[in-house]
Amino acid sequence: MKRSTGHDRSRTRAWKPATQAIRGGTLRSEFGETSEALFLTSGYCYDEAEIAAARFRGDDPGMTYSRLQNPTVAMLEERLCLMEGAEACRAQASGMAAMTTALLCQLSAGDHMVTARAMFGSCKWLGDELLPRFGIEVTVVDGSDTDAWAKAVRPNTKLLFLETPANPTLEIADISAIADIAHDAGAKLLVDNAFATPVLQRPMELGADMVAYSATKMMDGQGRVLAGAVLGTDEFINETLLPFQRNTGPNLSPFNAWVVLKGLETLELRMTRQSENALKVAKALESRVPKLLYPHLDSHPQVDLARAQMRAGGTIMSLFLDGGREQAHGLLNALELVDISNNIGDSRSLMTHPASTTHYGVGEEGRAEMGITEGMLRLSVGLEDPDDVIADLDQALASAGL
Ligand SMILES: *Cc1c(COP(=O)(O)O)cnc(C)c1O
Repeated sequence: MKRSTGHDRSRTRAWKPATQAIRGGTLRSEFGETSEALFLTSGYCYDEAEIAAARFRGDDPGMTYSRLQNPTVAMLEERLCLMEGAEACRAQASGMAAMTTALLCQLSAGDHMVTARAMFGSCKWLGDELLPRFGIEVTVVDGSDTDAWAKAVRPNTKLLFLETPANPTLEIADISAIADIAHDAGAKLLVDNAFATPVLQRPMELGADMVAYSATKMMDGQGRVLAGAVLGTDEFINETLLPFQRNTGPNLSPFNAWVVLKGLETLELRMTRQSENALKVAKALESRVPKLLYPHLDSHPQVDLARAQMRAGGTIMSLFLDGGREQAHGLLNALELVDISNNIGDSRSLMTHPASTTHYGVGEEGRAEMGITEGMLRLSVGLEDPDDVIADLDQALASAGL
């Protein structure tokens, strides 16, 4: 296996992001393949028993077992490091495997975590249900209220965890201000950057200590595989996260890693175009509905912060109708081009009713606290011609009485 230039950090760090997304992390085999090879192997063979022993001792860098290392997964990890500007990365089986690993690897009984109330449903479950079972206290704050974060930290606060823009309320949290609060308190900041991706927002440059992803969404970009990743310093990934991952096994399959590698090659193009399309759709629909939230629209309550920390507004917007679930479901059922789907970040435009799907499990009280109403719809804008998406939503709005 030839370590091609894609793994030579001193050279690849100097590349521009578009180059890193195509070439970063590439390892070429003896066959000189142009596209990254898919190593569907769980184990590795050794020429001599002594080599096996040296690898297990850590004296030989070769691979031993795919829960520990895999060349295809390693290519993805290195490419993500370069795109994020992080020292180290470990890929995970899904976004939720990434969040669970990032939390459990560093928190212990007696620790305290502060988290935002507007979160992906399963991330909220981790803080509400899982961590308290292991004696980890969690305080939930309004993520857009920077003072609330400062007030919530305690002497035993170890971690601040947020998602920005938040799913599906599109609240924006001030990453650099909250990173300062974490560091003043001797704690760390973990950011779920799924909605923005490193193309639109680089939380570590703003002071975050760790970034975690669902790569299922924009990184795959075509709705094919589940994948996730956690990025951070060498010390955090190799000394804190890796022992947890190696022994618990939330690893990404090489096949899924390969699919995401292919997705990353077009991530910048897709995020740029889909954000342009989403902005066009948001502008066209804004006056048709009682309320529409999109991070880079002038009407977003935190538009200045969104413009300061995100290069573009992303692919997602939320629409709020006054007619409750009946009107929201009526609009979905009238769609002819946009699909009813709870996934996001696909090249196809997708729309869902969070209260009855992604945030059903959060319960009525949880939804009220997060600002998820019965009339709320979330739209993920794809790569279709935005005029066709607008026309479809236009007729669906009309059919729902708007
Ligand atoms: C989808 C999503 C997750 C979970 O990712 P999976 O790949 O579905 O496990 C976590 N956080 C955010 C913000 C998401 O959108």
